[in-house]
Amino acid sequence: MPDIRIDNLTKRFGEVTAVNRLALDIAHGEFVTLLGPSGCGKTTTLRCLAGLEEPNEGELWFGDRCVFSDRKGVFISPGARGIGLVFQNYALWPHMTVFYNVAFGLRKKGLPKAEIRRRVTEILELLGLQGYEDRYPSELSGGQQQRVALARMIVTEPQILLFDEPLSNLDAKLRMTLRAELKHLHSQIGATTVYVTHDQVEALTLSTRIAVMNQGVLQQVGTPAEVYHHPENLFVAEFMGNPSANLIPATVTEEGPPPKVMLKPYPKMPIALQARATLPQGKEVIVNVRPEDVEIKAIPTSEAIPAVLTATLPTGSECVSYLKTKGEALEIVTKGPEEMHRPLRPGQEVWLVLKRGNVFDEETGKRLLSFGFADGGTN
Ligand code: ATP
Repeated sequence: MPDIRIDNLTKRFGEVTAVNRLALDIAHGEFVTLLGPSGCGKTTTLRCLAGLEEPNEGELWFGDRCVFSDRKGVFISPGARGIGLVFQNYALWPHMTVFYNVAFGLRKKGLPKAEIRRRVTEILELLGLQGYEDRYPSELSGGQQQRVALARMIVTEPQILLFDEPLSNLDAKLRMTLRAELKHLHSQIGATTVYVTHDQVEALTLSTRIAVMNQGVLQQVGTPAEVYHHPENLFVAEFMGNPSANLIPATVTEEGPPPKVMLKPYPKMPIALQARATLPQGKEVIVNVRPEDVEIKAIPTSEAIPAVLTATLPTGSECVSYLKTKGEALEIVTKGPEEMHRPLRPGQEVWLVLKRGNVFDEETGKRLLSFGFADGGTN
């Protein structure tokens, strides 16, 4: 039995359908991230799970307990759902010390004093906050305040943890540190977690699975590698990755296997896609290749596309390079270790090899196949 079952969840605000027939099962101990652009319905989904919004339709189950059902008329209040919530704003009690902020939930439960002290001390240690017990929130940095908010949530040992962009108020370095801490924490306590973010790096680094949403509709749910390397549709392909993936319109010229395509902005030669599957001849498709999956070669090889370098953007360890195919207006973005891109000069002629990627149906936007992957490119 999953720890969380979201069944056909719909939430409308007037004309806006914020969440549209969402179905998602989350197993015990999973860390599932709801990811998507602003307004896609992530927060509304989380608020429905927490009981802060009443959905219009569907059912929500925590284990064998139904916490919401429109059909059965069930709505369990937030306080009775056994969840821990952490938001972007730390919302600590300003007049209470760190110790009393963290102890708050345990004192409300009426636990013995010695037990409260033991558990608060333990959790403050886990979050690296020992020695801060007597400080007030105003005497802490943003990162420390968010750690206190985490400690306060975890100390009551909820079965389900819900996070809404908990790190977005912090600077980049601190975000990175706290990401690692969150991951460590999750491996220690193993609570089933739902995490909302619009930051794909956060989703890719933290999650056991990612649920990508757009306009209230679930687009794909899968492991970070599945969502990143095998996007199910063009929306996910474009949304994941920085810089965005190359999306090249093409026509299938040979069914295969391996199938061959002619890139429309470069109609000079058909390119074989290394996949065991076939594609219908004549089909209009979109070939999607991530910047790091475009190889730059200094000398021509078979099926390599001649191109001219327009700009390189080094970032220290990596470099993003922009190229245009020779004589045609196809722009291709590549990314790789800086030492490989450093010798390249604007105006220089190079050859590009599309190592691996995905092919989408131009009409439906659905993925037809993946190519160039070790598994033969069939999924
Ligand atoms: P963000 O990343 O910007 O927080 P989100 O993906 O979390 O976005 P939601 O906050 O869930 O998106 O909003 C989904 C849609 O529902 C949006 O169009 C939003 O304007 C609308 N919406 C959310 N809450 C309300 C509300 N209380 N009243 C009216 N419309 C709302």
